[in-house]
Amino acid sequence: MRTQFAIWAGKIAGKISKMIGFGGSTIPGVIARIVDGAFLRHLRRNAKTIIYITGTNGKTTTTNLIAKILETSGKTVIANREGANMVTGISATIVRNAPLLGVSLHDVAVIEVDEASLPRALSECQPDYLIVTNFFRDQLDRYGEIDMLIQKMITSLQSTKVKLILNADDPFVHRFAALPIEKLYIGMSENACQFPSYKMGESKFCPNCMNELSYRYVHFGQLGHYECSCGFSRPHPDFSAEKVYQNDKGIHLLSDREYYQTTLKGLYNAYNVLFAISICKTLGVESNVIRTGLLTYQLLAGRMQEFIIDHVSWKLNLVKNPAGGNLTLAEFMRTKEEKQLIFCLNDLLADGEDISWIWDIDMEMANQEEVKFFIASGKRAHDAALRMKYSGIPTEKIVIIPDLKEAVLEARRNGLPTNIMATYTCLSPIGALLRGETGKEKVYRRFHFWGLTLRNRG
Ligand SMILES: [Zn+2]
Repeated sequence: MRTQFAIWAGKIAGKISKMIGFGGSTIPGVIARIVDGAFLRHLRRNAKTIIYITGTNGKTTTTNLIAKILETSGKTVIANREGANMVTGISATIVRNAPLLGVSLHDVAVIEVDEASLPRALSECQPDYLIVTNFFRDQLDRYGEIDMLIQKMITSLQSTKVKLILNADDPFVHRFAALPIEKLYIGMSENACQFPSYKMGESKFCPNCMNELSYRYVHFGQLGHYECSCGFSRPHPDFSAEKVYQNDKGIHLLSDREYYQTTLKGLYNAYNVLFAISICKTLGVESNVIRTGLLTYQLLAGRMQEFIIDHVSWKLNLVKNPAGGNLTLAEFMRTKEEKQLIFCLNDLLADGEDISWIWDIDMEMANQEEVKFFIASGKRAHDAALRMKYSGIPTEKIVIIPDLKEAVLEARRNGLPTNIMATYTCLSPIGALLRGETGKEKVYRRFHFWGLTLRNRG
């Protein structure tokens, strides 16, 4: 009963905080925890399997990758995707996912946990798995605070049955090996990847005997293949990666002789990808499902949004880099029906002021007979049109209409299925325009006027 009351209180607090303009905050979690001080234990009632992810870098990306792959495999997932990783933030995630009455049991909870909050989180709810990504000292850590933090984390795991998934390449993380619980390791093979060089910290000392570690191979920072005369050395990983590289499509890697491609950029993310592969394989997800999840990861974050206007489909996509643009175009070109493309390009701060990335979009893909019209819009409509022209699209098909509303009206007159690629600041005005143009809005107006629903439009 206390649980139910805590969830109700949290939900009401969330509604009120939204009404007064605080939006999606951690307030529901704060209120739920006032009612029930160990609120995280309710995670157990809401999920069959629980995964925590902690460490200095890569928590949010790893959490989102795992959630995406598990959803691709058909599992139902709770996750704190936006990275609210203190106990209040995690509690807010539970409140949001809980039904008003009863329990909604999900297959998996994927929860990012702040390093300092881990002992508290463990005392309220033990996960089945804990992923520890890495630990990096920041420049202010002169007093070994990170060493104390790690020691506290290890102590809080002492009498648990949590299965650990650890980064073998990080001697800091390897300290968790002292725990008498089940462990799995991930790591990068020698020469797996030319990581961008990384300024060396003061972390290359053996946690057992405090002597300096010797490295056979360094990836970056203190990550690499290390050993010490006392016998402390990098464990052999259960999941390793090799042939890691990045091109304009994203990161590619080979793990267990299987090839994976991701839409992620930034070579450091290879570790997060490997963590996602390792836990999903441990949970029995097939390699081809993992591959699909990794490949479609960004597509979901790109908010593929559909509107029906005059019985015709309009798809709105946020595009902020070549990889996202190419995924959108590939999806757009999958069908052979007649259609049109709108490219809304702004160059405000939130969009990125440098728009040179549009030249890396494979616009040539869209130069096909079935695409009847190309509309270039936004503050940099002329640049968007130029990119289209240079990909060989006939100029008579290209129209330049900088004003977003005029562009939508023009496209509507053409009456064709439409795909809109929009940079960040174009997204919300275009969305508002499309909602205003749907038949739905008109039905609602009549509903309010007559006091009953009139299904007058077909
Ligand atoms: Zn040693």
